[in-house]
Amino acid sequence: MLAMDYRGPKRVRAVQKPMPEIKHPQDAIVKVLRTCICGSDLHLYNGNVPDTRVGSTFGHEFVGEVVETGAEVTKVKVGDRVIVPFNIACGECHFCRQGMFGNCHESNTEATAVGAIFGYSHTAGGFNGGQAEYCRVPYANVGPVIVPEGMDLDDAVLLTDVVPTGYQAAEMAGIQNGDTVVVFGAGPIGIMAARCAWLFGAGRVIIIDQEDYRLDFARNYSYCEAYNFKEMDDPVVFVKKITDWIGADVVIDAVGAEAAGNTMQTITGRKLLLQAGSATALHWAINSVKKGGVVSIVGVYGPTDNLVPIGNVLNKGLTIRANQASVKRLLPRLIQHVQNGVLNPKGLITHRLPLEEVADGYRMFSAKLDNCIKTVLLP
Ligand code: NAD
Ligand code: ZN
Repeated sequence: MLAMDYRGPKRVRAVQKPMPEIKHPQDAIVKVLRTCICGSDLHLYNGNVPDTRVGSTFGHEFVGEVVETGAEVTKVKVGDRVIVPFNIACGECHFCRQGMFGNCHESNTEATAVGAIFGYSHTAGGFNGGQAEYCRVPYANVGPVIVPEGMDLDDAVLLTDVVPTGYQAAEMAGIQNGDTVVVFGAGPIGIMAARCAWLFGAGRVIIIDQEDYRLDFARNYSYCEAYNFKEMDDPVVFVKKITDWIGADVVIDAVGAEAAGNTMQTITGRKLLLQAGSATALHWAINSVKKGGVVSIVGVYGPTDNLVPIGNVLNKGLTIRANQASVKRLLPRLIQHVQNGVLNPKGLITHRLPLEEVADGYRMFSAKLDNCIKTVLLP
């Protein structure tokens, strides 16, 4: 089968690989119909995620058709079209039972902090991902959700990550009626978080990025104010000034390690990097939120990145919440939002490429070329 193949930092290609096989009675094999490139894939692409092995296949955003099931799979059958959450979760551990499917205690035998994620290095379990014609889906009774009748697969594929992550960013922020919400990062995640902030009662939503085309997109898609930090002397002062020197009620970090400018650090033992970094967006978030405010982090950082100005967190009495999105927990209500037209995920898609052109897709998304917001790959 054709599959994306990682060769090293900034080097990916499409090659023929062996078909995935059922390895456990609860596995299913899914024929991929749509898959996307995510901002999280750029951390891998840039060589910033520890233990990303050459020869692995990325891709944690995919929908497809079940073509084979293990003996113990009862929740999906051959021929079903499924939304596959990016988290791989057992469904039975202490954390899964609380709906924390992104924090599964069983799925990641590498025993790092995160639960397993499709196509996201051996730090996140070492599973191959869905940027391929076929993918093995473990715990097939737990993750996959059948694509509802009539739902466009372009909407469905964004329900695997972008929609739940943006929604959870707003949910974790604990937005109160009328709150001013600032979102750092106008990638797909920040744009979706800004859009979802309204669903929680925000009174004002402001997004900040450096790419004018993304800011224009966000203004239209998320109905928010949008500003370029390159045109500001100091983004923290900017936010304070437009909030009567109070600060934003809540701030969402939808940037992550890109702004840290350092390599993710790990203590998994395979690699120990101790470069100091300053997580620009995270610092801006902590310093521009009001005293007693909430900072909600969905931007991805490395396992031991030590980036938080903890003194300011203490002195301002802040609440900081952060997590991988728990896709499965959120899917029922988000599917309804899509079906009712409250959310329009496919409106984020700007590019569609055949899987053969995966290298071009990564290059374009990484360099923010051709006004790219979200790219779908078609196997
Ligand atoms: P993206 O790379 O398309 O977008 C990031 C945006 O941040 C870019 O537009 C960039 O110009 C902007 N940016 C860079 N530095 C900035 C700064 N200092 N202030 C404001 N903006 C800045 O990525 P994406 O797909 O939107 O993902 C965003 C982040 O969310 C990534 O870190 C990704 O790994 C993470 N993510 C987390 C989860 C989760 O479950 N927690 C899921 C998906 C993605
Ligand atoms: Zn993603």
